[in-house]
Amino acid sequence: MKALQIVAAALGKSLGGIQVEVDPNASTAYTNGRKVVLPVLPVLVDEERADVTLGLVCHESFHIRDTYLGGRLKGLPPEGITYTPLKKRLQNALEDARIEHRGFKRYPGSRKFLDALVTFAIREGWFRNPSRKTKPGNLVLFGLLFHYRAHFLGQHALDAIADAWEKKAIKTFGPDLWDRMVAIADKAVVANNPEAPWYAADEICRLLAGKDANAAKQAAESEDNDLDQTDLAEMLPSDSTAAKNGTDVPIEKHLVQPVKESPIASYLDLSKGESKRVYRKVAGPLEAKLWAKAQEDEWVSRTGTAGVVSNSLYNVQTTGRVFRNRVDGDSRSMTVHLLLDSSGSMGAVNVKEKSNYWANAGAFALVQLFSALGIEWSVSWFDDEYYPGRTYSSAPLSPKDPWLVVAGGYTELPKAMSEAGKQLVCEAETDRKLLLVLTDGRANEAKTKPIDDALMDQGIEVRYVLIGALQGFGFAKDRVSHGEMQNTATAMIGAFRTFA
Ligand SMILES: [Zn+2]
Repeated sequence: MKALQIVAAALGKSLGGIQVEVDPNASTAYTNGRKVVLPVLPVLVDEERADVTLGLVCHESFHIRDTYLGGRLKGLPPEGITYTPLKKRLQNALEDARIEHRGFKRYPGSRKFLDALVTFAIREGWFRNPSRKTKPGNLVLFGLLFHYRAHFLGQHALDAIADAWEKKAIKTFGPDLWDRMVAIADKAVVANNPEAPWYAADEICRLLAGKDANAAKQAAESEDNDLDQTDLAEMLPSDSTAAKNGTDVPIEKHLVQPVKESPIASYLDLSKGESKRVYRKVAGPLEAKLWAKAQEDEWVSRTGTAGVVSNSLYNVQTTGRVFRNRVDGDSRSMTVHLLLDSSGSMGAVNVKEKSNYWANAGAFALVQLFSALGIEWSVSWFDDEYYPGRTYSSAPLSPKDPWLVVAGGYTELPKAMSEAGKQLVCEAETDRKLLLVLTDGRANEAKTKPIDDALMDQGIEVRYVLIGALQGFGFAKDRVSHGEMQNTATAMIGAFRTFA
């Protein structure tokens, strides 16, 4: 199983810093010119489903990069070109070929995701042979689309289908007209600008309209409902059960109140007091671990010397390039995301005999330490919902920052880790990223491990602090630490023992 949301977010980021968002009301993937928007995605999916979705992320990202030029173009026809349904669809088909060709050159790794998407489209009957009833407009459209997908983009799963369409197109329009259409389109798919497919589509439409032959005229005069959709994005790999079940109520964002506005903020007072004692225990050992890391990186950013070890400092040549890279990437060195279990079993935050009291005391202590070390942090919470906290910053905890006081559903750790992971992938700008999970629950290993794997693959170091039962976390081996409530501080230190 694959942690789809995390890999989709990471892929978007690697394709030129493109943000991938989920819109619970979206019925299909699309781009608004700046972001890729996907319909509701499951947290975990099988390999094929993941690749198909990632194919859509690539395709839409390429549109952002090459069709919309980062939001400066709206994707409208250039001046002087009048809209017709066939022209619009033709433009889209040629633009798809153009942007994927450019995308594959830039990101060779993206090809396999589009291949998976095309194979899926064939199996689902989205891409199929022409029928006896195929209208002339579709013949032009899909004849050209499949021609370029198979023979220009090299999506060879389409070879036979492309040949069937081409044969029928030649039979209908004659070899001469077909060759002329292909010759016009050939220039558009290798052009540098997004207007080229519009001009090519315009030229092809004029060519068809100027013919005496019935089929050509009929093609040029196609109405919207004569033509089928060509864009891959229309093909929805999501089961989007939410939309199908008619529950079009958008997923509620559970925003956590600023502490100072919470009528029950005083519930936190006791564990805040406790956090001072926890702090005294964790500060020394963790400072030694984290300070060295934080300082080394900050020092590197200021001097421009990378990869140094302290005893050979004076041997190392400073280079401007390294300096620039470091500063471009932001000189702050580490981001820690604390993910706190707030499910019912954690109990009340103001009762010393409950895990929640200790988890909060530990969290207050840790964020104080992180701020002292200039480490960026955020806290979020989960039960069966996810409650995002403040944005990443090394500023000390402020009364304006949100803090969850009461939750109490059941424990849905994989979903919470997926959400927190996405946030780390998309929003943390530091080289080093750490997700620290505090929970009393047992893990569902089959569902938690794939998320853990995906996060570690993205360079996010995951550590678990377990208050209570140690069950189902075998996969995390030495990245998990365990202690009873009063030993939360020791457990926290233990979670960092493999932190190097
Ligand atoms: Zn497209």
